[in-house]
Amino acid sequence: MKKLLISALVFLSSALSAVTPAIDSDKLYLTPDELCLNYFDGFYIHLGNNVWVKTGTIHRDSGGIYFYDDGLPREWKCPYCYMYWPLGKACQNDQCNGKG
Ligand SMILES: [Zn+2]
Repeated sequence: MKKLLISALVFLSSALSAVTPAIDSDKLYLTPDELCLNYFDGFYIHLGNNVWVKTGTIHRDSGGIYFYDDGLPREWKCPYCYMYWPLGKACQNDQCNGKG
């Protein structure tokens, strides 16, 4: 029984490592839902719930479209002036309609 469990674990771990190569742990693949791109001085990618990340480059391989998320800062988009700000920081745009 123990031997069977071990071989099952070995099979499982090898199956998992085949799906997610350890080297590319920063690779973040985009589903069609997340692929809401805005081009400013980089690509803004919508991660959902008005959380965005900006990246300079987007890549593509057989697995789909991805970018490298090596600690990219999360930003939010102001619904009034459409500018991006760090998460937790209020809109800093003096001309913004949402202020005042
Ligand atoms: Zn604003």
